[in-house]
Amino acid sequence: MSNPLIVGIDLGTTNSLVAVAKEGVPLILTDIKSGETLLPSVVYFPFDGTAPVVGSSAKELLATEPSRTVYSTKRLMGKGYDDVKGETANLSYELSTERTDVATIRLGDNLVTAPEVAALVLRALKDRAEASLGETVTKAVITVPAYFNDAQRQATKDAGEIAGLEVVRIVNEPTAASLAYGLQNKKSATIAVYDLGGGTFDVSLLRLEDGVFDVLATNGDTHLGGDDFDELLSDRLLSEIGVTEPSPELRATVRVAAEAAKRHLSDAAQTDVHVSLGDNGAFVRTVTKSEFESLISPLVERTLAPCRQALTDAGLTATEIDEVVLVGGSTRVPAVRQAVQTLFGKAPHTDVNPDEVVALGAAVQADILSSGRTDLLLLDVTPLSLGIETMGGATEKLLFRNAKIPSSAKEEFTTSVDGQTVVLLHVVQGEREMATDNRSLARIELRGIPPMPAGLPKIEVTFFLDMNGILRVTATETRSGAKTDVRIKPTYGLAEGEVRRMVRDSFVNADEDFKARMLADMRNEADSAILGATKLLAGYGNDIPDADRIGVETALAEMKNARDNAPDHSTVREKMDALDMAGRSLAEAAMSSVARSIVGGKTLSEAAQVLEERIKEERPE
Ligand code: ADP
Ligand code: MG
Repeated sequence: MSNPLIVGIDLGTTNSLVAVAKEGVPLILTDIKSGETLLPSVVYFPFDGTAPVVGSSAKELLATEPSRTVYSTKRLMGKGYDDVKGETANLSYELSTERTDVATIRLGDNLVTAPEVAALVLRALKDRAEASLGETVTKAVITVPAYFNDAQRQATKDAGEIAGLEVVRIVNEPTAASLAYGLQNKKSATIAVYDLGGGTFDVSLLRLEDGVFDVLATNGDTHLGGDDFDELLSDRLLSEIGVTEPSPELRATVRVAAEAAKRHLSDAAQTDVHVSLGDNGAFVRTVTKSEFESLISPLVERTLAPCRQALTDAGLTATEIDEVVLVGGSTRVPAVRQAVQTLFGKAPHTDVNPDEVVALGAAVQADILSSGRTDLLLLDVTPLSLGIETMGGATEKLLFRNAKIPSSAKEEFTTSVDGQTVVLLHVVQGEREMATDNRSLARIELRGIPPMPAGLPKIEVTFFLDMNGILRVTATETRSGAKTDVRIKPTYGLAEGEVRRMVRDSFVNADEDFKARMLADMRNEADSAILGATKLLAGYGNDIPDADRIGVETALAEMKNARDNAPDHSTVREKMDALDMAGRSLAEAAMSSVARSIVGGKTLSEAAQVLEERIKEERPE
């Protein structure tokens, strides 16, 4: 195996997955212990500062630990505080106002940035892949929505790096889904990818030509998904339960029941919802598929307008779509499938699990990259125009919306004041005319221009949008050769040194986390030893010499002290060994007393065996 191992990762808003291609066939890697394929993109940060918990166990804590359980961080990626403060109402955890450049979450006195949380999810996937494959994983292809801008892609890359993964390629989710269906093997096709996940909806129209994918248009709604189905149903159930002020726990229980009912209804005509109300008995109710469908029908309807808009943007009619691909767990809902089929007038592909299809496609892309095949070039487009703010505050576009990537553009600017030696360039992204209405990506300074009359300097600005959709900008004053070596520092995102620090921290913390974990395990062991010794002392303490008994009592006291106060597990281990030593005669006394009562006519070896079992019972595991 000389090819580097590259895994494919779907870093989702709700769920994330990791996949790898084996002999050309992509496979989802499951968690060795639980067998789970989906990893909920949820991270719980314990109060005591011990290692964060990622995945299903964290998701279960959402109801009881809402302020320390972080979810939906994908919405925060590559954004600043001002961009995300509108989300506050939808989130149960607190966004910090301290940092404006990177969306940051406040956990008590600690702050954690969105890419760091995403990194924990990625790290869990990396661990999962390593456990499942039995080898180290350092490279990954990660997917992002087609509409992700430069800063969001960069933030995703940063998260990978913090997690110890080299992100060899960022791939658009709809492109990945098409790859999972092997559509790249067709000569040409126009593809619609309809993706309805937990909290987001997007639709992408792709054009495939000779193995090259081209994104023609994207559209969607960032606050529409299966979670909204759950909410509608749980609101109805809650109102029927009739508790005026439902507790957060009851809300959470009903929510879980609603989601389970929804899933059942994807395969069954009706299902029973059962909610325990504690002392007030239980709420039981049958939900039929048709009731559920009419409940969610306005939401399903809402996904169709963006589909029509995407068609219009791409200059296509529904009949020109050759292939329809369904992505996202919520497309398992038959009513959703039906609506999509009706709109595009074509049965969608459904063979691949819609919640796995993106990760599988990422693995196909990873396989292509590791095999070094150059025949499959994957082309994407930039979803938003990129430009420079002009003197009057307008936007001068260099790369237009839907420009293919990789791609580059050049534009010449000049100075507006005599003797100007510094030029400030403001890089913006968006379709609006005025720069302030667009998204600010970076502010760049070109220095060292020799003083010249206004309008004379020739400032050449080039934009280069790389394969990952990440922008690089250069500016040169061509008369003097003054050049700025500009690495674009997105307005929103982690500073360069910060990523490095976080990578370092994650290793440092990994060590700390490991120690904390060892200590916690050791304490559990200590508790059983303390319990066992206490019981034996009470039962047989009087059967041994005073000196021995005092020895055990002293060792036990030291052990208790170590259990509560020792800084590391090895000190506790030492005290536990000492207690074992000191307790020898006590253990013997206990054994012989048990022996007397049960041995009877048995042989000595039989007695020893019985004894051992007895002792085990005395000392609960
Ligand atoms: P995301 O892309 O947002 O991370 P997923 O594609 O994993 O999310 O979709 C998650 C959503 O899919 C959730 O709302 C979940 O309830 C829903 N879902 C999963 N399985 C089913 C099913 N069998 N029927 C209906 N909805 C489902
Ligand atoms: Mg998804």
